Amino acid sequence: MAPQTLLDDGRYDLHTHSVVSDGTLTPAEIVDEAADLGLAGIALTDHDTTGGWLQAAQRAADRGLSFVPGMELTTKTNGLAVHLLGYYIDPTYPPLREVTDRIRGDRDRRARAMVQLLSDDIAFTWDDVLNVMADGATVGRPHIADALVSRGFYADRGAAFADVLHPGSKYYVPNYAVETVDGVRLIREAGGVPILAHPAAQRQRRAIPVSALVSLAEAGLYGIELDHPENRAEWLPPLRVAATELRLAVTGASDYHGAGKANRLGQCTTDAEVVRALAAEAHL
Ligand code: AMP
Ligand code: FE
Ligand code: FE
Ligand code: ZN
Repeated sequence: MAPQTLLDDGRYDLHTHSVVSDGTLTPAEIVDEAADLGLAGIALTDHDTTGGWLQAAQRAADRGLSFVPGMELTTKTNGLAVHLLGYYIDPTYPPLREVTDRIRGDRDRRARAMVQLLSDDIAFTWDDVLNVMADGATVGRPHIADALVSRGFYADRGAAFADVLHPGSKYYVPNYAVETVDGVRLIREAGGVPILAHPAAQRQRRAIPVSALVSLAEAGLYGIELDHPENRAEWLPPLRVAATELRLAVTGASDYHGAGKANRLGQCTTDAEVVRALAAEAHL
């Protein structure tokens, strides 16, 4: 059966993170919350891993929710961080696995390096980070933030990000990322559907340039997440025009991280019709 025939009518939240990356809820808990909210379905899009899919899919089946498998790939364009959502990818496709394995391995190196630098000035260790992480999770700065919070140095993740975890901080260490155009091609080759995440997020210095969007569309980008809590409204109009000209699908999603961020599940959503068209693009 084609995947889109399994997608119920209603609203979908197409961007969520569990403890398999930097969210604070398990995949099953996210599905439960979505069911309680009356959403038709959700996508799980943990950073650089598909490790939560099975648990989410099983709970979704139990709760009568539609599940959209996804992943948020760590990429870069002109040296700046760009997040790329890949839906319905084949998680066993070797070239994609090689890239995600490399990214996760380098995230580990980078997080350890940041903790090493931080520990010169702040009394905490890598063990404090391990203590706040689920086994096998994709590590990120949010886990370093949680470790600092657990030791009483900051009130919450946001406070740690605003200070020592900020890209401008002397403790900041960059991590490996694949070029965004290559990420788009890789997701397509893996049978998946690439969507550009939060293209105008406040935490970036500026929105993704329209020229970059054109290159991504030429490489096979399917859509763009224009409706996201962190997109800056004043940066959106040129992207909206470009998305129409480039015939990109437009999605909405919350980027829910449980208690790790202010974003609430279902805060931004996508209609089933758009999700079905997205699913029809996948090559399963
Ligand atoms: P990293 O993957 O290590 O570069 O860390 C980036 C992640 O940190 C993103 O996925 C965001 O979800 C999260 N993040 C960024 N800024 C903040 C913030 N101010 N508060 C909480 N989480 C944040
Ligand atoms: Fe995140
Ligand atoms: Fe992201
Ligand atoms: Zn995300």
